[in-house]
Amino acid sequence: MKIDTIEVYYVTLPLKYPWRTAFGEDDVVHSVLVKAISGDHVAWAETTPLYAPTYSPETAMSAFMCIKEFLAPRIVGQEIETAEELNKRLSIFKGNHFAKSGVEIIWWMMSAKIQGKPLHELLGGTRKVVEAGADFGVQDSIDMLLEKIERALNLGHKRVKLKARPGWDLEMLKAVYSAFPDATFHIDCNSGYTLEDAPLFREIDKFGLAMIEQPLFHTDLLDHSELQRQLETPICLDESIKNVRDMEWAIRLKSCRYVNIKPGRVGGLQNALKIHDLSLEAGIPAWVGGMLESAIGAGVCIELATLGNFVYPNDLFPTSAYYEEDLTDPPIVLNEYCTFTASTVPGTPYQPVQERIERAARHHEIVRATS
Ligand SMILES: [Mg+2]
Repeated sequence: MKIDTIEVYYVTLPLKYPWRTAFGEDDVVHSVLVKAISGDHVAWAETTPLYAPTYSPETAMSAFMCIKEFLAPRIVGQEIETAEELNKRLSIFKGNHFAKSGVEIIWWMMSAKIQGKPLHELLGGTRKVVEAGADFGVQDSIDMLLEKIERALNLGHKRVKLKARPGWDLEMLKAVYSAFPDATFHIDCNSGYTLEDAPLFREIDKFGLAMIEQPLFHTDLLDHSELQRQLETPICLDESIKNVRDMEWAIRLKSCRYVNIKPGRVGGLQNALKIHDLSLEAGIPAWVGGMLESAIGAGVCIELATLGNFVYPNDLFPTSAYYEEDLTDPPIVLNEYCTFTASTVPGTPYQPVQERIERAARHHEIVRATS
């Protein structure tokens, strides 16, 4: 397969409500869209490391620049038959996993389009329906959080994830568990704590959370292993698993008992598949995470979640959870019982609307094959 042209769009998407975590607050999501043309075929992908380097060292602008300057010129005009081959071509560049995922995912999207198959079939996904959990950032008040949790549980969500940060942890959990003693919760700390907080986590351990997501430093595996030894509650790694090697090390060090897989964070779908298979072999259950993508990227996450080891409800959301209007038509809509259905459309699962993308675009570049 040969991609003739890659276009990169830097877009901004206003959120309905600010998204507050241990690392700050976002009221607009800055995202990067990749459009590829191969003959008569068009495919789209998305990568979203957010505006500032708060979740990872990458930013939407660094991903945009890296794709147009380095990655896309290595790919356009080249015959590339497998994702493995594509990753090899990109391997001269260090890090920049989000940027690489934009170019890697577009290869999968184009392959699916040309083969006339939905993406999950190419990935080897077996499930036709995937489960969605609920996810709440730090709120203005406990009462506001309790109201949102009640709505999510009434809607049928099987688990609720709560963002935690110093000052919004133990007391928040006490209030949540006294209101909803039988529901399934987990907390996501977005690397907001250190091993010195182990006594706090031993208190948190008593609640019986489903897991504690990324409590410690964003690249750490060793301290997580130490903390896991002290806790009954499984630790789930997110930020720390940036590539396949990190997962191998996490397994060897026993740093986690769950893993959150985001295709952007790990450099694309091929790496996501490898991490999925490694975790399955090691008996570590997984779930798919999100970066508040538009339906272009979120649609890919739904397709990925059809694989066998994604057994915990995923961070997948309908458009209406965060956005007034999505970049696609149709938008993503939640089924009854809080599930999403895998796509039946070849290639990009949710069709982008070019006019909306142009309205959302702040920067746009085109990379063409030179020969
Ligand atoms: Mg997380």
